[in-house]
Parts: sequence; C-alpha cells; structure tokens
Amino acid sequence: MILASSNAGKLAELTALLTPLGFELTPQQQLGIESPPETGETFLENALLKARHAAGQRGLAAIADDSGIEVDALGKAPGVCSARFAREGAAEEENLRKLLTQMRDVPAARRGARYRCAIAFVRSAADQDPIIAQGAWEGSIAQVPRGAGGFGYDPIFVPAGEERTAAELAPSEKNAVSHRARALHALIAQLRAA
Ligand code: IMP
Repeated sequence: MILASSNAGKLAELTALLTPLGFELTPQQQLGIESPPETGETFLENALLKARHAAGQRGLAAIADDSGIEVDALGKAPGVCSARFAREGAAEEENLRKLLTQMRDVPAARRGARYRCAIAFVRSAADQDPIIAQGAWEGSIAQVPRGAGGFGYDPIFVPAGEERTAAELAPSEKNAVSHRARALHALIAQLRAA
C-alpha cells in the first residue's frame, strides 16, 4: 500500500510499526505523489483526504495519518495547524519556538497538552467504507527543549508520568505508547477483523 506522507519522522515511525506486521509500504514520494492541500477542519478529514489523494494517483490502497498537538492554555491550538503554526512551510524548529514563546508565562499546572493522530486506510480513492482510527497521547509542555530524538514538537512534549521529553525517549519507547502507535493499533485490529 502507499504510505501517504512526506514527513520523514512520521514515515520512520509508521514504517517501524507496520513492517513487522507484514505490510509492504511505499512512501508516496517514491511514486512522485505530492501531498494535497490539507483543507480539512479535523485530523480525520485530513487523514482521509490524504489517503484518497494518494490512492487515486496510482489505483492502489493507501494509508495516511494526520496529527498534531493540542495545548490547553492556547485553546487547543495549534491542532490541525501544527505543521504550519509559525507560517505555511515553516521548519519544525520555528513552530516549536513559536509555541514556547506563547507559553512563556504559563505556570506548570496549566501546561497540559496532548498529541492527537487520526489514521485512514482506503482500498481506493472512492472507497465508501474507509477504515479509520484515532489515538491521543497526554502530556505537558516543557519550559525548554530537551533531547534529539523523534521530530516536531517532541523536544518540548513531556508525556504524562515521564520526566523525559518525547525526544529523550528511545524510538521503541515512543512507538510503544505514542498517539500514532495507539491509532495504528486500533486501525490494525479493524483491518484484521475486516
Ligand atoms: P501533518 O503532516 O499535517 O499531520 O502535521 C503534523 C504535525 O504535527 C507535524 O509536522 C508535527 O509538527 C506535529 N506532530 C505530529 N505528530 C508528532 C509527533 O509524534 N512528534 C512531534 N510532532 C508531531
């Protein structure tokens, strides 16, 4: 199936999670497929539109995720705009810096946040019965970035019950509990039952 994402961090995590289960994945970039504009208002709408777009380009099944971080003190922003929080086409570092700046005066007790992920699997672009699943990962926003692993906001996301940031976890630790892993496991359970 086509893996409908061009984000290197996501590709690595989804491949690590799906390959041991026997799925053969081809990243859309390898097929010359560009990501469509993310016009949906929810993670689910965006995951579906990305999966349908990729499937339609090649007549193959496709899987896509849409994800982001919700920060309580910012009214759940940046949410679906996480990848373009600072500006369209922003580097992940710029987005992280903007978030930290907006959180500068927020006390520890009000720094709650969560990652969310929606995953969609379609057999074809017009699939009337797509398989969808969602996952969340609760935590809080650190005062300063720490760690070199993961991607995106991981250096400032401290999972609940942890002292380390997500960027200080080993990839296998993140992949055991992340929003993406939870969504994917729920999706795989449905795929197996289908
Ligand atoms: P999308 O490609 O539109 O789904 O954008 C997702 C954005 O959310 C990424 O560019 C990151 O900024 C953020 N994000 C999603 N999942 C993660 C994660 O696991 N770690 C860090 N940042 C994430």
